[in-house]
Amino acid sequence: MKTALVTGGSRGIGKAIVEELCNNGYTVAFTYKNSESEAKSLAESTGALAIKADSADEAEVVAAVRQAYSHLGKIDCLVNNAGISSFSLFTDITLDEWNRIFSVNVTGAFLYSREVSRYMISEKYGRIINISSIWGLVGSSCEVHYSASKAALIGLTKALAKELGPSGITVNAIAPGVIDTEMNKALSDEDLKALEDETPLMRMGRAEEVAKCALYLAGDGADFITGEVINLSGGFVIT
Ligand code: NDP
Repeated sequence: MKTALVTGGSRGIGKAIVEELCNNGYTVAFTYKNSESEAKSLAESTGALAIKADSADEAEVVAAVRQAYSHLGKIDCLVNNAGISSFSLFTDITLDEWNRIFSVNVTGAFLYSREVSRYMISEKYGRIINISSIWGLVGSSCEVHYSASKAALIGLTKALAKELGPSGITVNAIAPGVIDTEMNKALSDEDLKALEDETPLMRMGRAEEVAKCALYLAGDGADFITGEVINLSGGFVIT
């Protein structure tokens, strides 16, 4: 039986990943920060273990990984999904806001990868999947801090793939385009329509579509893929 730890699994893309992995035979633990009732109901519907832990807090991450490991017995797959975003003119971004975004999107992924890879190295097997963003590839106006954090996650993915490859661990990223989750609720209907019109497939992506890609990267079909960034944007970004 394969096992997985998903960060930020209470809502949106993370929730879809938890469901997809559970539906495909994985035993799963997931973390959340605030969405207690959503986390509880997901745990009940899937049998996954819900762990309350702030990705930005080192002690909480260390404790969450220990709890997940003792529940799962091993951690075959880590999905670094927890993330936050905000919109701001570049000149208005405060240092606190810059640090807040980086502490979850980058430091959180670093801490989970460090803690989990210790176990993976001793097993000589593992899959780390980082949920980046197309904005980490091409940049987004008024989201410089978010774009920079998602680009950093891509750098982390590539470097870690090189370091952990000899230990049998693959490290890949998914760079979704606009996905229909609460993260985009701050956008107006007009903005969303404009983004859809700019997308060759003419719609937003679905969380389930990101989840299916994560399932593929976690599985045997992706055994020889590492250091890769999968652009999942309906053609919004074509390089
Ligand atoms: P949502 O806002 O819908 O969900 C975010 C999830 O992350 C929640 O489960 C939330 O848990 C969790 N989370 C946030 N902060 C923390 C924290 N400090 N510690 C632990 N968990 C935390 O976002 P999405 O599902 O849309 O996004 C998921 C990932 O996908 C993010 O990394 C995002 O950047 C990325 N992404 C999203 C895109 C989109 O268009 N939606 C496009 C490209 C990338 P809780 O509610 O319990 O706090």
